[in-house]
Amino acid sequence: MADRKRILLCLAHMSGNEMRYIQEAFDTNWVVPLGPNVNAFEEELSRFAVSRDNPHPAWEGESYPACIAPHESDPDRLWAESIDGMPRRETVALCSGTAAVHLALVALGVEPGDEVMCQSFTFCASSHPVTYQGATPVFVDSEPGTWNMDPVLLDKAINDRIVKTGRKPKAIIVVYLYGMPARIREIMAVAGKYDIPLIEDAAEGLGSRYDGRVCGTFGEYGVLSFNGNKMITTSGGGALFCPDEETKHRIMFYATQAREGYPYYQHEKIGYNYRLSNICAGIGRGQLTVLEEHIARHRHIAAMYGRAFDGSDGILFHAAPDKTFGTNYWLNTVTLDPGLHIRGQEHAYEETVKGAVGGAAGVVDQVSNPHTDCEPGNNVEALRTTLDKAGIESRPVWKPMHLQPVYRHNPAYVNGVSEGIFRRGLCLPSGPLVSDEDVHYIIDTIKSAID
Ligand SMILES: *Cc1c(COP(=O)(O)O)cnc(C)c1O
Repeated sequence: MADRKRILLCLAHMSGNEMRYIQEAFDTNWVVPLGPNVNAFEEELSRFAVSRDNPHPAWEGESYPACIAPHESDPDRLWAESIDGMPRRETVALCSGTAAVHLALVALGVEPGDEVMCQSFTFCASSHPVTYQGATPVFVDSEPGTWNMDPVLLDKAINDRIVKTGRKPKAIIVVYLYGMPARIREIMAVAGKYDIPLIEDAAEGLGSRYDGRVCGTFGEYGVLSFNGNKMITTSGGGALFCPDEETKHRIMFYATQAREGYPYYQHEKIGYNYRLSNICAGIGRGQLTVLEEHIARHRHIAAMYGRAFDGSDGILFHAAPDKTFGTNYWLNTVTLDPGLHIRGQEHAYEETVKGAVGGAAGVVDQVSNPHTDCEPGNNVEALRTTLDKAGIESRPVWKPMHLQPVYRHNPAYVNGVSEGIFRRGLCLPSGPLVSDEDVHYIIDTIKSAID
């Protein structure tokens, strides 16, 4: 085991094209947070935003279980057709996905005292920027098919907020958890019914498509992330899809310290330093050349897990409900039956975690008690530690925001779905650095941990 290299959850993988763009930036002396790579990266992302579904050749001949077949573009499909007539999306490249969420809220005029409806089952970067604005995230639980925002619950929640506060929420933030498209058609219907702008947090869903259309292009704003562990990376970075040139300029204005158009520095608004550097944009351009390949790899691994974990052993792969949901399978996830017994689970949680689980950067606080009042089941933790000892990194799924102490006073509309998945779920290694042999080894290790 010692000579085996550790298999990590999801890591950046360079295409080899990045250095060319970076070199160009150096040669032309554009080592600043603007420049030709930034402009070109934005243009390439805008073009991608309206691209037709064009499965990568690597998908051909894959034998996927029916539920995760590569999504097909069918010109007769209502929404696929709308791609042609779809207005262009403008893109602003930013220093992080978190900054993209924040600026979408700024542009929508979210202020202290406002409420924003936010999917509870997510990474904290979806909701934290709402609090940066002094506003209140109101959490909405998920539905079991996609693990994303439940449109029916969203409708009820908005209605209840209006009754309770006398005001409409300022925005809705829906998330594509682990890359899985949300039930966006239904969510948009609710947003339309109340006339509330929609922000799609597609930080994990770059290249995912709902009915052939790129995720992040349905709502007012679409958030992308190029952090080190996302579908593609710029080392750190993000982008915001905007509806038009005018909004793009407004976002750029706030992303560059809100400088007014005078020869000297005149400030009439509070701005931020959120632009992406020309060097990072160069990495992004190189990465875009392999985006489809990366997605193909993630989906191939999903197909392998999907065949291995069909629920019969008490472990179920989280697959797309049907072909409408063209997920990138950013992180592949499974859920464990509560009754499934994993060897050693009696000793789960006996020790506090040393260092960060899942390679999470910046985890510096050491906890004194290994327990919180809501945690994954003993079998999940036992499986995680078994995998860890076998040199395989895995990680519990996101802990829902309505269960986070920092949000304990926030309004939340819950149905038990995200909490249930949190108690049963585990993320498995995915992506271009995980070989078929690795996947077989992971599957074998998991199966032999079952008691
Ligand atoms: C990663 C992520 C973000 C934030 O992106 P950063 O680039 O890390 O700031 C936002 N939302 C979700 C759901 C994410 O997974």
